[in-house]
Amino acid sequence: MIRRRDLLFAPLTSQSAIRPSILVHEHIMVDFVGAATIQPGRYDPDEVASLALPHLKAIHALGCRRLLECTPNFLGRDPKLLTRLARESGIEIWTNTGLYGAADFKFLPNYAQRESASELAARWITEARNGVDGVKPRFIKIGVNRGPLHPLDRKLMEAAVLTSRATGLTIASHTGDGAAALDQLAILKKMRHAPSKWVWVHAQNEADLEIHARIAKAGAWVEFDGINPKSIERHLECVRFMAEHRLLNRTLISQDAGWFHVGEPLGGSYQPYTSLYTDFLPRINPDWRTPLLWTNPQLAFGTKK
Ligand SMILES: [Zn+2]
Repeated sequence: MIRRRDLLFAPLTSQSAIRPSILVHEHIMVDFVGAATIQPGRYDPDEVASLALPHLKAIHALGCRRLLECTPNFLGRDPKLLTRLARESGIEIWTNTGLYGAADFKFLPNYAQRESASELAARWITEARNGVDGVKPRFIKIGVNRGPLHPLDRKLMEAAVLTSRATGLTIASHTGDGAAALDQLAILKKMRHAPSKWVWVHAQNEADLEIHARIAKAGAWVEFDGINPKSIERHLECVRFMAEHRLLNRTLISQDAGWFHVGEPLGGSYQPYTSLYTDFLPRINPDWRTPLLWTNPQLAFGTKK
């Protein structure tokens, strides 16, 4: 049996169990101070890197080859730091463009209130095309509150659709509940954008599994991303339900782990990225592993570097 505490600093020596994988929703660092206060220089990149690197090396040893870093702008997105950690860990790390409206808009800059969806999209399209600190975002990350969606949340989703249409990037949307997911699906339909370009992030928080099925049947991606040692039964329930309904081809899994917390001593308690491999994968049908962790992430988000 593989023990998590062994993995953190000791790479696996047996190659037999290692298959390549992609984690679609993780974090390196986050600063919860809010858009009004956040600024560069509130943390030491060397300190963050030294704390994050062993965790990234641990999953590299387990086969992780790509990680989508989901911390948005104004919440601690730092593409330079991600580039450094990618080089040092051997894992390709993707960053994002977009804005996070969840948590009642605390993490939105003032311009998000006054600008139109088109104006916001223009900013994100520029980031996607020109890069941020020399790094091109490979997906769109937004956050919306619970449904029915507030007009500001609707605007963020519309801006994300416009950006996706212009760039081909996929939208990963932190979504408060199933009602907010259905509202976003309606926006996709109204704007005639393919549901397959949108990922319902944090779907495990919606109790009604039938909504998972509805969203997946419409062609969108349903992401169960909070896998941790205490959540295994709930995540198994979600994934097994999708399998029973022949919807594994629209299902993504990840952990939403990591989180160096800016402002806390040593970044608080950094959550390892290993429980998906050590606690969850041994419990599922082995045939599900490649679609969930390799094929679907590439189908959902693309493969180009
Ligand atoms: Zn997250």
